[in-house]
Amino acid sequence: MKYKKIESEREIVFIIYDVIEVRIPKKVYYRFARKYSDKDIITYCPHKNVYNAITKRRLYYIAEENDIPIIGHTAFGLIDRGTNLIQVRPCTGCNLNCIFCSVDEGKSKTRVTDYMVDIDYLVKKFKEIADYKREKCGDIRIEAHIDGQGEPFLYPYIKELIKRLHEIADIVSTQTNGTLLTSKDIGELEKYLDRINLSINSLDERKASLLAGDPSYNLNHVVNLAKEIANSEIDLLLAPVWLPGYNDEDIREIVKFGKEIGAGKKWKALGIQKYIRYKFGRNPKGVKPMSFKRFYQELEKMGKGLRLYPKDFGIVKCREIPRKFKVGERLRVKIEMHGRIRGEMLAFARDRVIQITNTNKEVGDFVDVEIVRNKHNIYVAKEIK
Ligand code: SF4
Repeated sequence: MKYKKIESEREIVFIIYDVIEVRIPKKVYYRFARKYSDKDIITYCPHKNVYNAITKRRLYYIAEENDIPIIGHTAFGLIDRGTNLIQVRPCTGCNLNCIFCSVDEGKSKTRVTDYMVDIDYLVKKFKEIADYKREKCGDIRIEAHIDGQGEPFLYPYIKELIKRLHEIADIVSTQTNGTLLTSKDIGELEKYLDRINLSINSLDERKASLLAGDPSYNLNHVVNLAKEIANSEIDLLLAPVWLPGYNDEDIREIVKFGKEIGAGKKWKALGIQKYIRYKFGRNPKGVKPMSFKRFYQELEKMGKGLRLYPKDFGIVKCREIPRKFKVGERLRVKIEMHGRIRGEMLAFARDRVIQITNTNKEVGDFVDVEIVRNKHNIYVAKEIK
């Protein structure tokens, strides 16, 4: 375990892998330190507070031993949307603050909690879903797609995760903003990773920083990384978000850049994303989102093959894992964890996470709820008052 130890006025602070921040009151730490090693104190001390060192939000570390399900929520764990692609979400939290971020990541006004899932647990459950799909859908190619509400390369075990998913899935792909990846990583991951979807929103340094919401954003690094990926065994898909009025010309330049460097050898080179206004996302002032109709028309004008279809990525329908609750079902649950935003709490039942919205209940409280959403095994419930 790689960690730094800092002594503050009242606490001993451990920063593990530059991401996980464990805070222990000094008195408690010195009592435990008489008998135990730092590693044991970090792991077993019951009086610790855990945060994400980047976002400074409270962080839940989810391991199988904690009896916390990893299916049911969009922020962490696994999502099966009824195809051969299984989304793998190892953690939340981002090192950037993109001004259009749909999940208000980085320094956030709305997000109050981060989650990180233990690698053994994630891989074990991924295999269970992959086995189910292979049994139900016969000869299909399973894709593990690592994405999430944040930057996957902040996950301390990301390389090991990619390698282990490669042993189970036929294709392993990931999204990233590219800022934390190095050429050494590309060399190391070449044999295990099939595709990288790289977010890059402008080739102009000033504008790229503005869009990333980070004055220290290193565009040069991301551009060089794109070239290195394109020259490696890993396929490259450039995935800019088109923010009308901000990066219209830049999108055309990115399309040209993708062609020049040889992105998309196996799949598509470009995955231009339409900016969508979300209630709990970051929505820059003055941006008028395009309609889907206009967006597709503009893509067609820009060049051939820029509109994407599931078949471009070999995505086919395949039986979804069984749902555990029906919409309208009522049940009594215990609140177990804080949700991602204020007023949202999480409960667990039948090996699924249930997100309870608009509640002022606390952890430990019991509450009667009604399931209002169950699509793709993502469960949302409202309190019955
Ligand atoms: S890189 Fe992605 S997750 Fe991070 S702030 Fe930007 S849009 Fe949000």
